[in-house]
Amino acid sequence: MSRVVLSIGSNLGDRWAHLQSVVDTLGAAVSAVSPVYETDAWGGVEQGPFLNATLIAEAPGRDCHGWLDAAQELERAADRVREQRWGPRTLDVDLITCHDGDREVRMHDDRLTLPHPHAHERAFVLVPWLAIEPDATLTVGGVARPVAALLAALDPGERAGVRRTELSLGADRRGAGA
Ligand code: ATP
Ligand code: CA
Ligand code: CA
Repeated sequence: MSRVVLSIGSNLGDRWAHLQSVVDTLGAAVSAVSPVYETDAWGGVEQGPFLNATLIAEAPGRDCHGWLDAAQELERAADRVREQRWGPRTLDVDLITCHDGDREVRMHDDRLTLPHPHAHERAFVLVPWLAIEPDATLTVGGVARPVAALLAALDPGERAGVRRTELSLGADRRGAGA
C-alpha cells in the first residue's frame, strides 16, 4: 500500500474543472481533499493566479513512480503544454511525499525527487496540506519537521497570499457553493 500527498494547481482555462478532473479520475483512491485556495503565481513569470489544492490518495499495488505516471497522465488529459519553466498551465500535479507502507520514501532519480524539493518553501502547498492533515510532517534536509512549523517559518506575506475560496472539490460537487 502506498500513500501520496499530491499538490494540484491550475491557472489556465477552467481552473476548477482541471482540479476536479484529478478527484474524478483518482476516484476511490482519494482519501482526503483540501479546500480550494487562490494564489498569485510563484517563480517570477508574469501570469494569472492559480487555484491550488492538496489531496491524499492511497492505492495498493501502485508505487511512487506509479503515482508520478498517474500525475503525468492527468496533466496530459488536461492538454497541458510544456512551454516555459514555472509558466502558466492547465494542470500541474506534483508528488509532495510518498509513503510505502509506513516508510517515507526519500529518493532522487531523473524522473522523481521525494519529498518534493520545493514543498517546504511554498505556502500554496503547506496551507492546503495542513487543512487536511494538521499533524503532517515533511522531511527537510534529512529532518522530519511539522508542516505547521514550516508554514509558521515562512514570510507572513507568503502565507497571506494563499486565499481560501468558496470552491470545493469532491465526488458530488459542482463548484462554487455546491
Ligand atoms: P516544480 O517541480 O518546481 O513545482 P514544475 O511543477 O513546473 O516545477 P514540471 O515541468 O511540472 O515542473 O515537472 C518537471 C519534471 O519534474 C517532471 O517531468 C517530473 O519527472 C519531475 N519531478 C521530479 N520530482 C517530482 C515530484 N516530486 N513531483 C512531480 N514531478 C517531479
Ligand atoms: Ca509544480
Ligand atoms: Ca510539476
